[in-house]
Amino acid sequence: MPVVDLAAVDAQKLPKNIIDNKLSAQYQVLVLGKRGSRLFVGGADPTDQEAVERIKFATQLQPEWVIVEYDKLAKLLESSTASASESLEALASSDFEFEITDDVTPQQTEAQDAQADVEDAPVVRFLQKMLVDAINMRASDLHFEPYEYTYRVRFRVDGELREITQPPIAIKDKLSSRIKVISRLDIAEKRIPQDGRMKLKFGSKAIDFRVSTLPTLFGEKIVIRILDPSSAKLGIEALGYEKEEKERLLACVHRPYGMVLVTGPTGSGKTVSLYTCLNILNQPGVNISTVEDPAEINLPGINQVNVNDKAGLTFAAALKSFLRQDPDVIMVGEIRDLDTADIAIKAAQTGHMVMSTLHTNDAPTTLTRLLNMGVAPFNIASSVILITAQRLARRLCENCKVPADYPREAMLKAGYTEDDLKGNWKPYRAVGCSSCNNGYKGRVGIYQVMPITEAIQTIILSQGTALQIAYQAKAEGVRDLRQSGLVKVKIGATTLEEVIACTNE
Ligand SMILES: [Zn+2]
Repeated sequence: MPVVDLAAVDAQKLPKNIIDNKLSAQYQVLVLGKRGSRLFVGGADPTDQEAVERIKFATQLQPEWVIVEYDKLAKLLESSTASASESLEALASSDFEFEITDDVTPQQTEAQDAQADVEDAPVVRFLQKMLVDAINMRASDLHFEPYEYTYRVRFRVDGELREITQPPIAIKDKLSSRIKVISRLDIAEKRIPQDGRMKLKFGSKAIDFRVSTLPTLFGEKIVIRILDPSSAKLGIEALGYEKEEKERLLACVHRPYGMVLVTGPTGSGKTVSLYTCLNILNQPGVNISTVEDPAEINLPGINQVNVNDKAGLTFAAALKSFLRQDPDVIMVGEIRDLDTADIAIKAAQTGHMVMSTLHTNDAPTTLTRLLNMGVAPFNIASSVILITAQRLARRLCENCKVPADYPREAMLKAGYTEDDLKGNWKPYRAVGCSSCNNGYKGRVGIYQVMPITEAIQTIILSQGTALQIAYQAKAEGVRDLRQSGLVKVKIGATTLEEVIACTNE
């Protein structure tokens, strides 16, 4: 086995965040480098099989031992695990500023006394560093989590949670107070969940964050979601629709009236798809109103309303008001009940373009869901013009992906036909390099885009099953989610494993 003298190693240049500090400390190991799927791990005891297994599991990489002297290793580990608390002191940056987006609420004025505690400079800088790091890593959420003896920060990147750091537990109260002040929450209230927003100026760009607190056993868990309006302005090309899917979607969106439904589980990118469509329709001559719970993306030129159940402003109530304001396009965040479904359908039947989402697995089952809610078949057939279902798969890193040899049987089992496998193409597999996350970077949408044709209307009117609808859609050339995913594998956008994982229902 290779031996390395740690005295000659520059600790600053070692790769960071490949394994977390806890794992490092527990097994007394240090990551020295990474090449492809091989991870070079410095440790004093190369017989430690448990360490190998744990690192392999945590990183999905192949660890290879490099022997280092124990005392030098211990010293390096101590300095690197201390860096989280040190960074609290050392962080210095004044390039960005927080903006409290609304007037200070009365509770906060009363809480001004507590503010001295809140403006603890290292905590302020730590939070700023976390937010900037999260944006740079293209994370969607930040999780601040207190436990009995530890405190940790995790980011969700490309749909996966990753531990980022374990700051000293002593900062947990100051940090949550700081987050609550800038997001206009009541800092004295720690026993009930709260929701708020904040805005960060980042260079010339302003980024919105949605903040939610949750009282857990050992303090408040805070999740900050990054709401990046530019995600909706990327345009439809960035979402990964295949040519014919995009054409079908746009043809329906541009119709003067009818209902377009986007379905999929939470986190499947429904909101971004809907907003991309709204953005296409967003012209000075068009009146667009949305009601959401809550609005995730702010778009100028669109009238956005947040649901407020306590005040009686439900989806249904907002929809009724919209109809009195001469709308052209209406977006309802979600159809959850018959009341909302009925009004939305009426709007679609009376000359408005209505867009909404439903939590269903695929396009055909969406129609049966509406029937089960109690919507009359005639009303569904005469209003819904298109249903899309979607998933997000991790996108392969273009820098390091390599062709892979899968057994023919595995490819057929995944859903490819003999015809699909003709020609000289190979699926790619994830490797991992310094510019990606285990071989993946960003995500790609997988879509089922199903127009409601006359034949499908007939099935709905005769109260047919989802299976009959699916069969008819397939006959009309609509790919289901798995088939769409397999296309993405064939063009090298993602891996077979990803497609199987996210279309396995
Ligand atoms: Zn890569």
